[in-house]
Amino acid sequence: MTVTLPAFPIHGGCACGAIRYEVSGAPIGVFACCCTDCQKLTGAAFSLAMPLLRERFALTRGEPATWARTAESGRVIPQRFCEDCGTRLFTEPPRGPQTVTLRPGTLDDTGWLVPAAAFWTSSAQGWTGFPEGTLLYEREPDDFMPVVQRWREMLA
Ligand SMILES: [Zn+2]
Ligand SMILES: [Zn+2]
Repeated sequence: MTVTLPAFPIHGGCACGAIRYEVSGAPIGVFACCCTDCQKLTGAAFSLAMPLLRERFALTRGEPATWARTAESGRVIPQRFCEDCGTRLFTEPPRGPQTVTLRPGTLDDTGWLVPAAAFWTSSAQGWTGFPEGTLLYEREPDDFMPVVQRWREMLA
């Protein structure tokens, strides 16, 4: 599949509107994660993640609360969410302080999103499928660069 990037800046926010943000430029990529934590956190089949340079992300209203989630790897990943409605908005990866990982389902327009990769397919719900060409990983990739490259190839 191809991706047609929207005209930046784009905007999004939480379900109740207390938190709003702006994304001023293209993301590094978009991927899905089917790990059981993501299923739990979303109450759904997988999460969508959109890493982007921190300088391209700005809060325009409100201040999200923080929950420090300990991943299976032992790394602590701060999860930022709306205190009022509980919407998860973004995480702050400790390995990449120059990036944030947005939950792109919180964008006002989600129609252009296509994941370049899916992680943790080993724990995916049985019906879950992804478009042909999606990079599939049984766990997490050690090297994120192939995901970035696949994303770049998909840009129309
Ligand atoms: Zn809210
Ligand atoms: Zn996950």
